[in-house]
Amino acid sequence: MKIANPIQESMFREMREKSIFEQAQTYAFQYLEQVFERNVYPTEAALSNLQFFEEPMPKEPAEAAGVIALLNQYGAPATTAMLGGRYFGFVNGSSVPAGLAAKNLATYWDQNTAMQVISPVAAKLESVVEKWLKELFGLPDSTVAGFVSGTSSANFCGLAAARYRLLKRMGWDINEQGLFDAPKIRIVTGKQAHSTVMKAIGLLGFGKNNVEWVEVDDQGRIRPELMPALDDRTLVILQAGNVNSGAFDAFDEICDKANQANAWVHIDGAFGLWAAAVSELKYLTKGIHKASSWATDGHKTLNTPYDCGVVLCEDKEALVSALHMTGSYIILGEERDGMLYTPEMSRRARIIELWATMKYLGKTGIDQMVYGMHQRALEFAEALRKIEGFEVLNEVVFNQILVQCKSDEMTAKTMQRIQELRECWVGGSTWFGRKVIRISVCSWATTPEDIRRSAASFERALRETSLEIAGS
Ligand SMILES: *Cc1c(COP(=O)(O)O)cnc(C)c1O
Repeated sequence: MKIANPIQESMFREMREKSIFEQAQTYAFQYLEQVFERNVYPTEAALSNLQFFEEPMPKEPAEAAGVIALLNQYGAPATTAMLGGRYFGFVNGSSVPAGLAAKNLATYWDQNTAMQVISPVAAKLESVVEKWLKELFGLPDSTVAGFVSGTSSANFCGLAAARYRLLKRMGWDINEQGLFDAPKIRIVTGKQAHSTVMKAIGLLGFGKNNVEWVEVDDQGRIRPELMPALDDRTLVILQAGNVNSGAFDAFDEICDKANQANAWVHIDGAFGLWAAAVSELKYLTKGIHKASSWATDGHKTLNTPYDCGVVLCEDKEALVSALHMTGSYIILGEERDGMLYTPEMSRRARIIELWATMKYLGKTGIDQMVYGMHQRALEFAEALRKIEGFEVLNEVVFNQILVQCKSDEMTAKTMQRIQELRECWVGGSTWFGRKVIRISVCSWATTPEDIRRSAASFERALRETSLEIAGS
């Protein structure tokens, strides 16, 4: 083989010898062996060792084996054990093994999912999973799916589709005519809409000041009786799974009103939409099929690897028109070109892990896994209610629990102590003006024993914090 330059020669050698791939695999397996038991958050030493990554842009090529070894030595200990069963921060899922393995295999395929002609396998899996999701959530037949990085992006896409359709009905083509002189769209959402919904509202030029905010109840749900009168120039944004309390809006009632007025309803269902796939929890999502667009994540409740989000839209023309791009070099396929449904052109084939996760779990597996999260959340809440000094503030309808101590100071310090103990990890939030500890049970791996250990860690943290405050 004629080699062009030294770096090409080294890269061919790495590909031929494969030893760095074996090395990475060995490290990965070592990681898997301890991740379920190790400290959930990195130790102080591991965090301080991150300084070893600080260096000016290297001048010369490095030994590939050295690069991988360095990454493992200082990178692995500074990860959070999100894969395990005692990470309850934000709403961060673990990974179903089959999904993780599929991602591992597909890493070597390195597919770009922009067009069918670029990756036939990715296009096929996208159209298969699109059908599966429709069936699982009970959405209209006309629904199409775009596979994006997460719900931030999916919310953006859903709202862009709404903007396209609402303006089009008023005789305005947003793509051609732009926003400056466009007729006004009304935005109606609850006071507890997720921050990424606000981001999309900003990005799409709606303006946060133009939002008509609807009062919510003590669980963060929109109070349907306080919804303003709707019309055919209104975008209503609802929520399946409040990021704090896990609560669900009254979709059935609100969608009926919206549909009578010919308004567009978008549902942010980042983690909550999956309740629709659980027989015991399905009641929470009653009426979601009456909306026009939906956003959800694979990487939260479904436990696909990062990153994985989906926008679903029953109005294909609106979604595709909102996100469409054209170019003289574009070759559209007969079945499915992923880029028509997403803001990006080039995208990694996250569909592979999503497909593998759903294929492996099946409906029964998803039902058991997600219901398990709910059951563990109930157990956690029950254990904390028994500890004097903790109060559970929300109805645990899904997987989120909000906990408070006697004062904001106590809550903040106890949470910090829980984090320092590293037996589990939880983050904080504010709930109607008070500081809270927020627990999200979002891992397939969480066992009743993990709940017991975590509740014990909460108890110890509270005791130590009380002593510290009493002593100061
Ligand atoms: C997590 C979350 C988002 C954002 O999703 P990403 O996947 O992080 O982009 C949006 N809405 C809700 C309700 C969420 O919980």
